[in-house]
Amino acid sequence: MSTPIDFLAPRTCFLTPIPELDEAADLLSQAADGLLAGNPAFARDLIKRADMPAVRAYASSVMGRISTDIHRYRTIAGLPDIVARPNKTKIRRLQPLEEMAVFERDGFRCRYCDCRVVISQARRIMMLAAPEELPWGARDKDRHAAFYALTAVADHFVPHARGGTSEPGNLITTCQPCNYGKGDSLVEQVGLINPWARPPICDDWDGLRRMLSHTSRASTRKRGPADGVRSGKSAASDTALQDGASIENVSRDDWFSALNRSHRHLSTRLLAFLEESKDLKVTWSLRKALIVHMSVGDRKLAILGIDRDGGVEVPWDITGHKEKFRQFAHALERAIPGALAYETKHWWRVKKNGRNLELSELLDDLSALRAAFEDLHAALAD
Ligand SMILES: [Zn+2]
Repeated sequence: MSTPIDFLAPRTCFLTPIPELDEAADLLSQAADGLLAGNPAFARDLIKRADMPAVRAYASSVMGRISTDIHRYRTIAGLPDIVARPNKTKIRRLQPLEEMAVFERDGFRCRYCDCRVVISQARRIMMLAAPEELPWGARDKDRHAAFYALTAVADHFVPHARGGTSEPGNLITTCQPCNYGKGDSLVEQVGLINPWARPPICDDWDGLRRMLSHTSRASTRKRGPADGVRSGKSAASDTALQDGASIENVSRDDWFSALNRSHRHLSTRLLAFLEESKDLKVTWSLRKALIVHMSVGDRKLAILGIDRDGGVEVPWDITGHKEKFRQFAHALERAIPGALAYETKHWWRVKKNGRNLELSELLDDLSALRAAFEDLHAALAD
């Protein structure tokens, strides 16, 4: 029974985790091992078993309608109102490796409820092996329950709307329900105990990150240099690789090898295209992601960001040039079947089925991609 004292009692999370969450994480973990060991039938069975109604019910009760018992929003005296998206504060999108660093620091566990979370990239890879057992529709109810609840989020501890930054010190790993429950609130407003006050649980749980090394049999290659990176002089010039040599122990070769896991020779095709685009003032650099730049006067705009799983952020940083990217976004939309260009307040985005584009899709029609780059070059030169 809820009393005012219960309502205000400090707590670590919105709803005490149920044992099925752990069970689901174990099943997904065994499924990942099965896939890595080349046993997809075994994995599919486990993935299906992890799609548990109890897990969905748990997540939905936090992620559904706001409830006094669960969410316990309260007013805090003296707290200024939320500023609707302070316009001077740019919201910087996190790069996949930045997120990964947060998850790793936090032991791939929700820092509120301690449940083990899984990275979204693992879901995408597992979906390829188990498209039927791992549904991922547009509506919550059409999503695999375990991934619906357990997909990791790097959440802003102090929300953006309250001036929180995207620095690691303000990012915290959460599960979906805890992330949703907290929303744009401060922990004090929902009565949660500050999770920074207790250390993260770091053990051998990896959030299924090991799936990133999953290779289909056909594309498995012996460890070696990435296509075109060491062997060909035709690849884009080394001078473009400003400080890409080593990032968090990720060497350039490793980076390109990872890129080639999904599609053979992907890095060669990418580098060849970039080399041919030099006349459009296109350069690239390798940091945590490969950033494709186009220069306008003395400014360099990041127009694409490619992570080493082959995910493409379109566009990456167009600050102050949004209107000039309208054509580019639509050109990409036309170049990639099923892609959708859409406008947000500050950006154009191009996605396909709600996910980022994949590099292999981008490189499928090189003449259309070239045309999109040419149009953008012309627009930016105006
Ligand atoms: Zn949680």
